[in-house]
Amino acid sequence: MTTTLPAYDEVVARYEPVIGLETHVELGTNTKMFCGCPTDFGGEPNTRVCPVCLGLPGSLPVANKAAIEATIRIGLALNCSIAQWCRFARKNYFYPDMPKDFQISQYDEPLCSEGYLDVEVGGELVRIGIERVHLEEDTGKTLHVGGATGRIHGATESLVDYNRAGIALVEIVTKPVPGTGALAPEVARAYVTELRDVLRSLGVSDVRMEEGSLRCDVNTSLNLPGEEWGTRTETKNVNSLRSVERAVRSEMLRQASVLDAGGRIIQETRHFQEDTGETRPGRSKETATDYRYFPEPDLVPLAPDTAWVAELKAALPELPRLHRRRLQEQWGLSDLDMQSVLNAGAVELIEQTVAAGATPAAARKWWLGELSRRANETGVELADIGATPAQVAELQVLVDAGKLNDKLARTVLEGVVAGEGSPTEIMTNRGLEVVSDTGALTAAVDEAIAANPDIADKIRSGKVAAAGALVGAVMKTTRGQADAKTVRELVLERLGAQG
Ligand SMILES: [Zn+2]
Repeated sequence: MTTTLPAYDEVVARYEPVIGLETHVELGTNTKMFCGCPTDFGGEPNTRVCPVCLGLPGSLPVANKAAIEATIRIGLALNCSIAQWCRFARKNYFYPDMPKDFQISQYDEPLCSEGYLDVEVGGELVRIGIERVHLEEDTGKTLHVGGATGRIHGATESLVDYNRAGIALVEIVTKPVPGTGALAPEVARAYVTELRDVLRSLGVSDVRMEEGSLRCDVNTSLNLPGEEWGTRTETKNVNSLRSVERAVRSEMLRQASVLDAGGRIIQETRHFQEDTGETRPGRSKETATDYRYFPEPDLVPLAPDTAWVAELKAALPELPRLHRRRLQEQWGLSDLDMQSVLNAGAVELIEQTVAAGATPAAARKWWLGELSRRANETGVELADIGATPAQVAELQVLVDAGKLNDKLARTVLEGVVAGEGSPTEIMTNRGLEVVSDTGALTAAVDEAIAANPDIADKIRSGKVAAAGALVGAVMKTTRGQADAKTVRELVLERLGAQG
């Protein structure tokens, strides 16, 4: 079925969107949530399993303290209240990737609740309410083979890998976010970006969306102004920050076209299609009663000590928004300049380059200039461009020492990106160092004077501006490796003119 979608401007003029985000974060603990199995990504299928995470009869779970600590820290960073007493719950469902046929999760007693996260969108602060942060265990992974799409439909067989089953997983659920209008897709993206940065600053997860350690489900609904909120859909498989934004936008357009035609939105799970940017229906959404939640009888309640929670709170790192504000001040940047640093994904890179000894201005120049340009051209993230902050700082040291001029530095940087080694190695190996040996330069200057007698006469008669042509000639014979200022001084000196 193909339908023509309405224009986005028209949709937001007629409907009000309400969004909500559920984010799952795999914690970076060394062992799983309820057993001692290792958690590293990869590994032969079904080699990181034991009776507990396979749910074998008689095995008993024990909660991972590091995971509880990480969850409390996440809750504190998101301004949540931390429960003084709460329990794990059994979420019952039959699905091959969950060998116990239930998942240990939390239900009506989450560890953290009632918080918020402030995000900036277009210079405005938007406060996103956090309903809950709870702890649970991850499922295994199912692989459908034999079909063209990798989906179960059309597959000849399905394989299950339980290595991931039982890894500590934190679920962070926002409250519904109304009132963002046309900015709803951007707000959703800004929230996930900020949340990712917060989690990274806490060091609790490697937050890699592409590897699935940060996963996001996006809820979207539309309603007419002044009316009740509409029925929401939940879009899964949103694997990048860009996809978060696209998923909200595409779902708003789809729902508007259904509503415009007098249709009704069905509460369902939908899947985001990376290739088309559209959502497709999945299963219709289970309700809480389908899961027959009850308190997990194999685990004792969680009762984090108040003093311990206070200690964790006092030890929280500086959170990203405040950290960025401080850097902006230190670097002396306007809001607009800071925004371009953020957009380029260069904050940390510049910070590390400065830490390695470069001035903020020099660090910003290389990362936002030459390196951003190359990243855009080749379609890679700036952080993956192949140059490290230490190398950029080293390059600037060579420039400051007069060993490289701007043009040579760019050539050296190309070598760094191509993996030829450190800036010093490339400069030496390729013979790119500025020629500062006055003897060699004087010979080149005399040669240029001899080859251009007319220009030389002009300069002798006081037309100093003509020196540029001779400087250019010398730069050419030295393949750009002479220091232009020194050459100019030599030209004037040899011709008895005053600069
Ligand atoms: Zn295990």
